[in-house]
Amino acid sequence: MTYDYVARRLNINGIVQGVGFRPFVYQLASKYEIKGEVANTSSGVVIHIEGIRDNIESFCSDLAEKSPPLAHITETSIHPEIVKGFKDFSIAQSIGQAACSTLISPDVSICDDCLSELFDSNDRRFQYPFINCTNCGPRYTIISDIPYDRPKTSMKHFKMCKMCQDEYDDPGNRRFHAQPNACEECGPHVTLYDNSGKKLDARNPVEKTAELLKEGCIIAIKGLGGFHLAVDAENDDAVGMLRKRKHREEKPLAIMSCDIEHIRKYAYVQPEEEALLKSLHRPIVILKKKKPNSLSKDVSPRNRYFGSMLPYTPLHYMLLQYGFTALIMTSGNMSEEPICIDSEDAFKRLSEVADYFLVHNRDIYLRSDDSILKYTAGHTRFIRRSRGYIPVPVFLKKKVGQILACGGGLKSTVCLTKGNNAFISQHIGDLENQATYEFFQLTIKHMKRILDINPGIVAYDLHPDYLSTIYALEQQDVEKVPVQHHHAHIASCMAENRLDGPVIGLSFDGTGYGTDGSIWGGEILIVEDSEFKRAAHLSYVPMPGGEAAIKEPWRMAVSYLYDAFGKDFAGHNLPLFGQLDDSKVKFVVEMISKRVNSPFTSSLGRFFDGIAAIIGIRNTVFFEGQAAMELEMLADEKAKGIYNFEWSSGETHRIFLQPIISGVVNDMERGVHPSTISGKFHNTIIALFSELCEVIRKENGVSRVALSGGVFQNSIILSGLIKGLKQRGFQVITHTLVPANDGGISLGQAMIAAAVANK
Ligand code: ZN
Ligand code: ZN
Ligand code: FE
Repeated sequence: MTYDYVARRLNINGIVQGVGFRPFVYQLASKYEIKGEVANTSSGVVIHIEGIRDNIESFCSDLAEKSPPLAHITETSIHPEIVKGFKDFSIAQSIGQAACSTLISPDVSICDDCLSELFDSNDRRFQYPFINCTNCGPRYTIISDIPYDRPKTSMKHFKMCKMCQDEYDDPGNRRFHAQPNACEECGPHVTLYDNSGKKLDARNPVEKTAELLKEGCIIAIKGLGGFHLAVDAENDDAVGMLRKRKHREEKPLAIMSCDIEHIRKYAYVQPEEEALLKSLHRPIVILKKKKPNSLSKDVSPRNRYFGSMLPYTPLHYMLLQYGFTALIMTSGNMSEEPICIDSEDAFKRLSEVADYFLVHNRDIYLRSDDSILKYTAGHTRFIRRSRGYIPVPVFLKKKVGQILACGGGLKSTVCLTKGNNAFISQHIGDLENQATYEFFQLTIKHMKRILDINPGIVAYDLHPDYLSTIYALEQQDVEKVPVQHHHAHIASCMAENRLDGPVIGLSFDGTGYGTDGSIWGGEILIVEDSEFKRAAHLSYVPMPGGEAAIKEPWRMAVSYLYDAFGKDFAGHNLPLFGQLDDSKVKFVVEMISKRVNSPFTSSLGRFFDGIAAIIGIRNTVFFEGQAAMELEMLADEKAKGIYNFEWSSGETHRIFLQPIISGVVNDMERGVHPSTISGKFHNTIIALFSELCEVIRKENGVSRVALSGGVFQNSIILSGLIKGLKQRGFQVITHTLVPANDGGISLGQAMIAAAVANK
């Protein structure tokens, strides 16, 4: 033991504000009898410590290893200091613009301490639906500006009572500077209304809500990031009614259960999935269905999976204590529109859907849908990165300037960068209506403010008609960088893996505007930061009717069949022809042969759709990618064999589709079961691209492959290609931090714009 008395200055950056970091430092200092002070400054948290050398060392290692659950330290530097002779350890006031550079915490689920208080009848917050502390509760969704202090949150309307204020001021308390701190006495409340706006005179609105749910009512419930529509998931009539009123035909509905044991009643939960469900972020996790189960068959029709989550707010726990196996908790919106966040708006937009409204008076400043994840091929994969993860940045390998990337058209997100951080927004939705476009603009404005970013560069998609493109082109006094869609996908995957080019990028999705004006989507690109070369792609086929061919996969089927067999395609014996009107087929053939409203596409997503229609899965879809998804779910993974494939030689390889289509049709005519055909089709895609990558490696000398695009939500393709490529000696990188789908492209756009600016 050495007894020399020393002093140090620590500079800490990361998510260290509003997450109980300073009280943690304070407690650590008293543990090790350390004097000094901690302060929020414009360059992060600064700690001055003095004490016995060994204690100082223990303090520093505890600081790194035992920081509070929500804190995320990205950078620590330790500097020698002179001993100033502090008498105690104190928390200094934040000064002026202090803390602007510290990161904001996402919204997180209620912590165990708060949860036990919630159900403790002796606690003063017993059954209080807004209980929280520095380790839990709302953050991102209630902030209007920085620095993160109560007057800059939607808690500003609530003046703390004496008891709450004392907790807030006490550095030894779990609620020290917990900005949303509140209690029954001084904080927000819930109220129950019927759908005409009349307040229900219920002694306990939560208990009454549970009763109504049991009677089969649909309740709009105001939550953390917006409204949910709730019904009892075991009640067929209620679930059916919800689908009908919400105009949501077949897309799976998210559910919530009180604990893992309840989820196990209807779904299989692997250990990794359990950890994910229980994590602070509380995402929706895609889980394999158990059969039979007691939930309504309409929760997730024609699907092998449920999307389930655990409660994340005190109110959820209170509701679920009334004994539901699961509640449907789907976004409170009409299909395609953003979710409602304020009560007035909810009454206006949801009164045709919901019978009752359980609302509260804590404003939500920025909506945030539930995040959706799936555990596949050894990793967590985002389908939607939103509530619970936003605004945690992707930490970049290189520093970049201040850039705004506007994203694509579907599953839109935006991205803002500064230094080593790329902040991707919450899920905004499909930019196809005014309401979503307004939300998109609001998100940009809000994020610029709370992240203190003023972009000089704006990146956007090449598609001239995307609202995100139109927005970008309207911006003044900024440098504008157009980015090709599939290039952005691969750049996004490279960025989250902190990898520079060149890589071979497999960019597979439904739709993306190509540099030649065609619709791309089955692309192999050689990506070198700001540039790319198209190394291979699926052969072009017409998309008869453009957008209509996405909603009606049978049109794609006809296009592929026509491409493979010419005019005689109808001579083949396929169930498809029995289901379709002859005149409709004729009309589509006309469109194809005369090239009327039939843009060319090389999309792999459309190829999946087309195969699904050819083997009789479905001719029309209710949501984008449904046919392809069902093709995956039908696949017999034990199926052996592949269909023939070929590609052209030359600078850019064209992959011929005819041999694959012929193989599939031949199997159909021989009476091979569609699940076997689907299995073989998946095998074919995996083999084809693994082999083609080998050819491209020979030609270009690149042996790293990045996988990106919505098609990689297909678990068979993702796992199969990882395996196939690794067997051939490739280094394979995939998405684990941002979605492989279009929710991830804003990050890639920003990276490409940064590289262009650097040239
Ligand atoms: Zn807590
Ligand atoms: Zn209070
Ligand atoms: Fe895409």
